[in-house]
Amino acid sequence: MDRPSIIRKTAADLRVPPNLSDYAATCATFDWDAVRAELAGLPGGGLNIAHEAVERHACGPLHDKVAFRFLGTHSSRDIRYGELSRLTNRFANVLKALGVGKGERLFLLSGRIPELYVTVLGSFKNGTVVSPLFSAFGPEPIATRIKLGEGAVLVTTELLYERKVAKIRDQLPTLRHVLLVGEDGQATNVPGTLDFGTLMAQASDDFTIVPTGPEDLSLLHFTSGTTGTPKGAMHVHGAVATHWATGKYALDLHADDIYWCTADPGWVTGTSYGIIAPLLHGVTSIVDEADFDAERWYRILDEQKVSVWYTAPTAIRMLMKAGAEIARKHAYPSLRFVASVGEPLNPEAVWWGKEVLGLPIHDNWWQTETGGIMIANTPAFDIKPGSMGRPLPGIEAAIVKKESDGKVSPVDTADTEGELALKAGWPSMLRGYLHNEERYKKCFAGEWYLTGDLAKRDADGWFWFVGRADDVIKSAGHLIGPFEVESALMEHPAVAEAGVIGKPDEVVGEVVKAFVSLKKGFEASDTLRLELLGHARKKLGAAVAPKEIDFLPSLPRTRSGKIMRRLLKARELGLPEGDTSTLESS
Ligand code: AMP
Repeated sequence: MDRPSIIRKTAADLRVPPNLSDYAATCATFDWDAVRAELAGLPGGGLNIAHEAVERHACGPLHDKVAFRFLGTHSSRDIRYGELSRLTNRFANVLKALGVGKGERLFLLSGRIPELYVTVLGSFKNGTVVSPLFSAFGPEPIATRIKLGEGAVLVTTELLYERKVAKIRDQLPTLRHVLLVGEDGQATNVPGTLDFGTLMAQASDDFTIVPTGPEDLSLLHFTSGTTGTPKGAMHVHGAVATHWATGKYALDLHADDIYWCTADPGWVTGTSYGIIAPLLHGVTSIVDEADFDAERWYRILDEQKVSVWYTAPTAIRMLMKAGAEIARKHAYPSLRFVASVGEPLNPEAVWWGKEVLGLPIHDNWWQTETGGIMIANTPAFDIKPGSMGRPLPGIEAAIVKKESDGKVSPVDTADTEGELALKAGWPSMLRGYLHNEERYKKCFAGEWYLTGDLAKRDADGWFWFVGRADDVIKSAGHLIGPFEVESALMEHPAVAEAGVIGKPDEVVGEVVKAFVSLKKGFEASDTLRLELLGHARKKLGAAVAPKEIDFLPSLPRTRSGKIMRRLLKARELGLPEGDTSTLESS
């Protein structure tokens, strides 16, 4: 269908006056110090995310307002700001009693249950650094991250512990305490673990937040690179200024909103925008504990009267696939703003929103390292479907080209492809990769932070995503490092070498596809393929394991011995092979 290339915003599209009404004027006068002045700060000085997100509301008129509504399969549970304050105080006391101090790292492995939210915010109060893990990870990604992060504590559920952690526990010598959340509130006596519920019941409601400042670490988010182990992006309490400003301008949060972020807190969107930003703005958040289900999601939007919805392209494509009929069984009169992040949002999906939900979808862009939304379509300006929007106030973005001396310079001509870069220094910028200063330094060229994404900027200043500059795979919105998958496959006795690529997929963006060559004495067969798929799934978990495996006699390598994933991909897709001058001749 031929559709216009721009969706013009009219006053009728805006059910409430947007927080960002004049983009140009706000950008011109924006000042991060003014944002910091909006935050309360710790009594006596300092800054702590939990104080901004919970305490200042709990002590004021929002004490009895619902902060989170957890929707379970059969029941729901509300936690009000006052109760959230008490529960997070209790958890901070639990950590203190266990001797877990400021700066130590706590890992989290669970679904979207209340205990997860209490753990994150309670850890902030104790100055403990939180590292969330995705619950669909298998034992290997879990072990790799806890080892790298030298985790002192793990909070998980009894079920996940038994299925994924018990067998790797002896590989994790730094882990002093494992706290288990039991199915019915109490974990059975699992050796070497403590019961979360019992500790919480014994803890006091009172806690004074440990003194923290803007540069103290708050979160450690692992992200995948092309080579080597995952990178632990370190974030600070000062990031809260970005969460506040982007909650206001990019998500347009207003005090009476019912907000639903569908992202899992195992990933950065689920913490920055599933926990922190909505609390900062004192809104009520919906948390769905169940997995994706089209009918259920439409029902939630309708029955919970969601007004601001932050979701992802894979989910939108799954809803599109389920058909408009299901959507039309419900009505969404409360819904006024829909945003999406994580992968390119195709124009078709933006229009689908307008036609089926009555609202276009506002794509926005950011990454683990940026800590918060950087480029966005906001209520303040027209949407060019397919574009990720414009840099938010306080953010300077450019398309840069590398010079031969390694320096980079912004490209001024419109519609030119280059690397997307951001002027360094916004509050939620990562402060380093844990134990990997060299890799961190590589992210910067002069005053620019290099994102690793290729993009273009058009003559009007809208940014367009082109692709990744590296081989990292984006599947269902999650970054997957090919190296981690290749390493797991190589652990199988039949595999001589493995190369992993992202293969385009209509629903999840890319699926993980592996190519393997076999050791002498092994024959390619469907049985072996199934065995390898099962082996990878057991080690890596469903979120990371390959969905397809092909056998090749040998894999293309550079003369320096690196597997040429680009060539594997080009061959798979029937695309030109490009420059193969470094290909090792076999
Ligand atoms: P992560 O660090 O896992 O959040 O992934 C960040 C990466 O996801 C970015 O560097 C992009 O490659 C991709 N990404 C995020 N948002 C968008 C978007 N709106 N459009 C295209 N790609 C995106």
